Amino acid sequence: MAKKVARKKQDGPPPISRADFLKVMVAAGALPIPEFGFHSNLPMRAYLRLPCVSNSWLGRFQEAPAKLWAALQEPDKVKRKETDATILGSAIHAAILEPDSFKRMYLRAGDCEQELASGKRKGEACGNPGRYFGSAEGWCCGQHKPLTWNTGTIALSGTDYDICLGLRDNCLSKKAQFHNPKARKLLTLKDSDVELTGVWRDPETGEPAKLRADHLSDRVGASTDIKSCLDASRNGFMKTFYDRRYYAQQAHYSEGYEALQRPMRHHYMIAAEKPYPHLIAVYRIVDDVMELGRKEVRLLMKLYHRCMESGEWPGYPSKIMDIGLPSWGEKQLRAAVELEV
Ligand SMILES: [Zn+2]
Repeated sequence: MAKKVARKKQDGPPPISRADFLKVMVAAGALPIPEFGFHSNLPMRAYLRLPCVSNSWLGRFQEAPAKLWAALQEPDKVKRKETDATILGSAIHAAILEPDSFKRMYLRAGDCEQELASGKRKGEACGNPGRYFGSAEGWCCGQHKPLTWNTGTIALSGTDYDICLGLRDNCLSKKAQFHNPKARKLLTLKDSDVELTGVWRDPETGEPAKLRADHLSDRVGASTDIKSCLDASRNGFMKTFYDRRYYAQQAHYSEGYEALQRPMRHHYMIAAEKPYPHLIAVYRIVDDVMELGRKEVRLLMKLYHRCMESGEWPGYPSKIMDIGLPSWGEKQLRAAVELEV
């Protein structure tokens, strides 16, 4: 229980108790937290609804505690829509990690075959990209809807479908022209687990936390994560690795592996380049960066715990702050101005 702290009377909403926090989460669709441990058959949709600290929670929290609290209360207002890019991301994961289920779940969409009922092209086929395949109607675009369709399948555009196959082959097939043998070696290690959910209690704060591992191998003590990207070159990917906090994600996961008694020595990332010819690069995160990442995760986790205990989720500082230029901008401006003198 939170210690009672004498507080100044303040304006604004009252603090949020832990019980209220959970109530709000349940109202927003949270599922009960499963037993601590690894779970292998949890669909991604269910994973996203577990009310446990994830790397993306910490990322939002880092922007401002208020942003995380708002996102948990009103997921629909904040949720990035399931864009074509996120659908493609999941499809790429399935193609590489679970090629058989990829074949079952994903279809290459044809153009909408439905006859137009009016307009200049009346009587011609619609021709918009297909989204649903009806057993009687064939491809339908969504404007045109089939009566029944197989809801277990997801239609990808021809281009996206080819990206999935290209990346899959360059990861897994020795015969592919631009095959990366190291990726294949990691992904085909015997006795490994794919798409594993981990749920644990953070030992320092007691907060429940979760992870979603792409590929774990106890045999070599390696976790391997697949990241689709536009540029898998070392310089290009390094920037994404930082901007998207992939280092922090892996640090958070490594804490989970340890808490669940399954520590990993190596943290690999398979950078899978979406543009043709779908080249693959494999990176190992250096130990120093893992260490820094873990320090950041510790700081954020403790701050998160403090917000949970106090029931206060602040936004940006409420005082007036000075603003100048980012260091690189100031340097450039100074150089330019001083040259003129
Ligand atoms: Zn149509």
